[in-house]
Amino acid sequence: DNGARQPHIVFLPSAGMGHLIPMAELAKLLVDRYHFTITFITFSEYSNKTQDAFLASLPSSITSLSLPPIPLSDLPEDSAIETRMSVAAARSVPYLRSLLLPLLSSTRLVAFIADLFATAACDAAKALKIPHFIFIPTNLLFVTLMFHLPAINAKLSCNFWELEHPVLLPGFPPIPGTEILNPLQDRKNECYKWMLEHAKRYREAEGILVNSFDAIEPEGANLLKKEEPGRATVYPVGPLIRAQAVSGEEGAHCLRWLDSQPAGSVLFVSFGSVGSHSTEQLGELALGLEASGQRFLWVVRSPVDLKSVGSNYINSQSADNPSAYLPEGFLERTKGVGLVVPSWAPQVDVLAHSSTGGFLSHCGWNSTLESMARGVPMIVWPLFAEQRMNSVMMVEGAKVAMRLKARKDGIFDREEISRVVKDLMEGEEGERLRKKAKEFEVEAAAAMTEGGSSSVALAALAEKLKSFPTV
Ligand code: UDP
Repeated sequence: DNGARQPHIVFLPSAGMGHLIPMAELAKLLVDRYHFTITFITFSEYSNKTQDAFLASLPSSITSLSLPPIPLSDLPEDSAIETRMSVAAARSVPYLRSLLLPLLSSTRLVAFIADLFATAACDAAKALKIPHFIFIPTNLLFVTLMFHLPAINAKLSCNFWELEHPVLLPGFPPIPGTEILNPLQDRKNECYKWMLEHAKRYREAEGILVNSFDAIEPEGANLLKKEEPGRATVYPVGPLIRAQAVSGEEGAHCLRWLDSQPAGSVLFVSFGSVGSHSTEQLGELALGLEASGQRFLWVVRSPVDLKSVGSNYINSQSADNPSAYLPEGFLERTKGVGLVVPSWAPQVDVLAHSSTGGFLSHCGWNSTLESMARGVPMIVWPLFAEQRMNSVMMVEGAKVAMRLKARKDGIFDREEISRVVKDLMEGEEGERLRKKAKEFEVEAAAAMTEGGSSSVALAALAEKLKSFPTV
């Protein structure tokens, strides 16, 4: 039976479309280029209409199964989202086993791929002797930090944010301790312990698949691609991004509006699927955009305390009325120059549009890759997770982004926003960054075509997967 002979892979993404989308892009490549068949196993408490529709839209060689609900109600209320995802994966092991066993007999199952926080689930694969891999939806900087974390941790006598000197990682610009990813900022938090556990498990995996490409972090790529005994092989296989956003009437409206703007004139402003600000910060952003005199397309979300990011993750498309919380008269005064859309825009299409000339972004890694793949320079405004680290890399490493200077109280005020926006859209520095971004656009496409760095890495991965004996 032909179907049973095609090599089969199981993917396990943690919560959030930001993990699922790049994994699905990877799955499509493995199906198209190397004729694998794939099963996605998802955590049922995070299933929602968006995710279900997305999974259903994938090609027929990619199917999906759902784990039964995994209770987490015994965890403290304030547990970090990364802790919740890690614990859910650890507790999923017996259920995974029951899903993997029938797949073992009905398919030629060659590998199990869990994402960055689901490492503990690999125990299910290990027990069944299925080779396991880790998928990292962020970059090589993160992987480098995680490979060095056990050694850094052994020497650390305070929290990262208290460090006097920046963290030095081979192949990357120095990272100030304050910019190290959130889950590592409090050594006493469960989350920190989980990151140490993940770091250990990354080393032990058969391989680490990373949604990045050599040209954007060349020195890091060079170092990580060298084999090291006792450490997983690293495969940079990105950028794994959607070619097109799925967009309804609201999305079409954004694109029509862009059609009527001059080429390269619009600043796209968006903070990912969950990012939001305080009312005061939103007000400064609005007035800063207005004062810059530049055209803008702004995806705005109602102000909430960032602590509720966890719940935002699952329910990102809330109905919203921006005039209720934006400065009085702002929408009227900027009509024609700016378009404000609540909650969601077809981002990859917006970035691909010729009217878009800059991106004010939270520097989430998917957004960053999407911007680079379309040659759009950025202003970075990191909020949480590893976004501050990404920002350092984009400003100081890749040198394709500019940053804002915060006031003493942490607020970016209207003067600063207006100055930096003008600089990106019509200043000399902006011009330089735009050229650099265009280079990355070319490099990103080249990486994914035949003979390109990510294609070569993917081919090596496929070959390794196919070489595994059937369990
Ligand atoms: N996105 C979008 N429209 C929006 C906001 C976000 O299509 O209005 C998509 C964006 O294209 C990207 C993802 O959501 O693929 C956000 O991922 P990222 O890693 O940048 O940030 P996160 O949402 O994880 O903070």
